[in-house]
Amino acid sequence: MSFENLNLHPLILKAIIDSGYTAPTPVQAQAIPELIAGHDIMASAQTGTGKTAAFMLPALHRLATPSQVHSRGPRVLVLTPTRELALQVSEAAAKYGKHLSRVKVVSILGGMPYPLQNKLLSQPVDILVATPGRLIDHIQRGRIDFSRLEMLVLDEADRMLDMGFIDDVERIASATPAARQTLLFSATLDSAIDKIATRLLKSPKRIRIATQQARLDNIEQRLHYVDDISHKNRLLDHLLRDMALKQAIVFTATKRDADTLADNLSAQGHEAAALHGDMNQRDRTRTLTKLRHGDLRVLVATDVAARGIDVVGITHVINFDLPKFAEDYVHRIGRTGRAGASGIAVSFASGKDGINLKRIERFTGQRIASHVVPGLEPRFKPRPGVGGMSGGAPSVAHKRSRTWSNDSSARGADSAHGNWDNSRSRPFGDNRQNTRGNVAGNTFRNSSVPSPYFRSK
Ligand code: AMP
Repeated sequence: MSFENLNLHPLILKAIIDSGYTAPTPVQAQAIPELIAGHDIMASAQTGTGKTAAFMLPALHRLATPSQVHSRGPRVLVLTPTRELALQVSEAAAKYGKHLSRVKVVSILGGMPYPLQNKLLSQPVDILVATPGRLIDHIQRGRIDFSRLEMLVLDEADRMLDMGFIDDVERIASATPAARQTLLFSATLDSAIDKIATRLLKSPKRIRIATQQARLDNIEQRLHYVDDISHKNRLLDHLLRDMALKQAIVFTATKRDADTLADNLSAQGHEAAALHGDMNQRDRTRTLTKLRHGDLRVLVATDVAARGIDVVGITHVINFDLPKFAEDYVHRIGRTGRAGASGIAVSFASGKDGINLKRIERFTGQRIASHVVPGLEPRFKPRPGVGGMSGGAPSVAHKRSRTWSNDSSARGADSAHGNWDNSRSRPFGDNRQNTRGNVAGNTFRNSSVPSPYFRSK
């Protein structure tokens, strides 16, 4: 994933390059496309994950399209628990918006003089960053017009909850238009945060970062392109004959496929058995006991049946069929690399799997490097613009870097099977001809060249 794939406004992209960022962090790679598509999100991401840019970049991008509502009030409101965080957010807005013009950022914080804040609020505002208590004061005095508010960001919602700000947050939210887009960021997504989300967000997409990243570190992920079922079967047979494979779980899409594949593998001489939800409990327990005791080398399973299997001897997970949901991919491959061991996760993907694969990579924030087995090369070659896939030469196995920033191995893998975002059209319509603006705020004023993408004020 690169920033170019995210379809952000070119002048925002320029500021990202100036900042020296080479690739989006996992929370950015997952959140930005959902936000540009207009969804609400709730994300578990701590400070240090790049969460501020994850919401600020789409917020600035949103401002590229003129508001339909005649008002001077804010279009984006960011609520933070502390003054320090509010200032960081305002600085990020200035940094990422520095090439844009006429975008005004205002911070309203407790402990600051009212007259200056009153003056700032009497002028046009685009992005308002505030701590809840002081903002409530201004709302009660009728100083803020939220009629054109489009995006509400609750940053560090768990801390706002701990600090007793949640009633204020809810009152503020109720003063804004119901049609707004709402984003909630929190270090943890527990039941208290869920309750707030239920009241304030609409069908939010959930994004979880820290735990998954940690879990996948010791698992080498590989991709094999496949032409058809017989190609899959031959590849699987080859992989299972590898002496380094001690025990494996092979995932299929359906219970029936699990049974058929287990039978076929047994017929080929592999020590294999199926595990799925249609089996009775006694058979399931017997199969799992054999797996645990090392008496079964290959388990062919469906997602539900394999959840929670914790067997240290599993060296390989093979996705014979890719899972439908990215979250299941993480559960599946987490069956290997247990108890500090390392593991290998192999996925088979055909020409139809491009979008699925892209979702998985966005979810994990990691590219899966493609591999070939000599003599079993796919006829199918992912090409730019074909079936959503683009590509190049598949690479030889290598261990992925553990960090998201400056990850040259990840970039190598990126080019190995390409960019599936090419077909996305740019979100800007004819407005780009008639619009201009600038970035300004109580502390940040940029005198950049007026952008043709922004409206006059
Ligand atoms: P945050 O989690 O928003 O507090 O950001 C933590 C730090 O990561 C900040 O210093 C950002 O400048 C930096 N940062 C944000 N996005 C990226 C990126 N894509 N690549 C490298 N650094 C980043």
